[in-house]
Amino acid sequence: MRTITLFDTLQGKEREFIPLSEGKVDIYYCGPTVYNYVHLGNFRPTVTFDLLSRVMREVGYEVRLVSNYTDIDDKIIKQAKLEGKSEKVLSEFYIKAYEDCLDQLNITPLYCHPKASEYITKMASFIHQLEEKGDAYQSGEDIYFRVSSVKDYGCLSKQNIKDLISGARIDVSDKKESPLDFALWKLTDDDGIKFDTEIGRGRPGWHTECVCMVNGVFQKHLIDIHGGGFDLKFPHHENEIAQSEAMYGTKLANYWMHCGFLLTDGVKMSKSLGNSILAKDVLQRHLGNGVRLFFLTTHYRSPVNYTEENLDSMDKLALRYLSSIRKADYKLQLNSMPEGQLLKEDYDQFLDALCHDLNVANALTVFDREIKEINTLSMKKDCDYARLGSLVFTLKKFSDILGLSFQYDALTEEDKKLYQEFQEAREQKNFQRSDELRPLLMEKGIL
Ligand code: AMP
Ligand code: ZN
Repeated sequence: MRTITLFDTLQGKEREFIPLSEGKVDIYYCGPTVYNYVHLGNFRPTVTFDLLSRVMREVGYEVRLVSNYTDIDDKIIKQAKLEGKSEKVLSEFYIKAYEDCLDQLNITPLYCHPKASEYITKMASFIHQLEEKGDAYQSGEDIYFRVSSVKDYGCLSKQNIKDLISGARIDVSDKKESPLDFALWKLTDDDGIKFDTEIGRGRPGWHTECVCMVNGVFQKHLIDIHGGGFDLKFPHHENEIAQSEAMYGTKLANYWMHCGFLLTDGVKMSKSLGNSILAKDVLQRHLGNGVRLFFLTTHYRSPVNYTEENLDSMDKLALRYLSSIRKADYKLQLNSMPEGQLLKEDYDQFLDALCHDLNVANALTVFDREIKEINTLSMKKDCDYARLGSLVFTLKKFSDILGLSFQYDALTEEDKKLYQEFQEAREQKNFQRSDELRPLLMEKGIL
């Protein structure tokens, strides 16, 4: 199988990807907390891991790609109260809104989209076991994870325990043994959503939710790849690793991948900072392909700045690609030429670039080179149709791998007749008629 290398945050370097089971790969990335419409930044991991799964499938892996919905969270309780709805009704509403955006972005359906609320029994039993092993303790109304139970806490975010402790906010009234300990479960009878479980009535903490969903969905204590945005490295992913390490002696995933931030005016886009641009609004103003290209054209680990101008130019690029491929495809059909074959050398160069830690920029140089060539060939009256056919075929393949969906109407009999008439008018030097037909054919994308 083709070699894939990925930047692994845990080992701090790019590493060759070796699957746990031959030919198979299990990937989990942290999804949104569904208390509001998600902002555009929340889709950066979504697009990145969708691309990764497409590349891995192309290489030949059987991929199980999973992302969760955090539907139990204090922010959800607060928002549900504000909107006068139950937490369930509120989160289902925003899950539906998120899923509408997934469709517009041409995201491949996931293997599974678990919700935290579906794994409560599993979480309670997980926490109970941690308590029994001495890795968790109850203090006041909370059950905490005892960070001192794990040897290498800080391994993911590359911080040592001493620095972390001195940097932590120490509250005099804190009930924790160490300021680094984190809540696994809140024992409560308040009016927020809560569950009766073997460890008492209450609700789980976010860090336990993801560990239990990973274990539950994949039925494994170690998967291949776990990811999310940079902000999740600490404390969320660090705390996921700590729990998994304490419970099973694994780091939960073999590779940890993190995406850079989407910025607004140089600052991370975030609901709490109030600088969010909602994804649903962006997708009303811009093309799904344009938004995808907006993310893809910057390497997934680098920051990317949101501007309407950037998105506009990506829409234009997407339309240019569409029009070039469509025109060439129509030309083949109008001349009864077959589609052609994969251009192997270009394909290898394209896929190798993507296999190199998702180097989309290098892959796009191959894509752009081919677009340039079909533009030249499409303009010629008589061209090398075999070459044009192969370019169209290969570009369609590349588009699928990048998740760009270039759809256009099939040519009708009427279109074919119009084109025929146009050609005849030109041959007969009937320029009045060919001038009449030209704009019609251009509008249809044929010329
Ligand atoms: P949240 O709903 O805040 O838990 O975020 C859901 C996912 O979106 C996580 O993987 C975050 O890391 C990611 N995320 C949130 N804000 C941004 C941003 N501005 N840029 C990139 N990713 C983000
Ligand atoms: Zn998570």
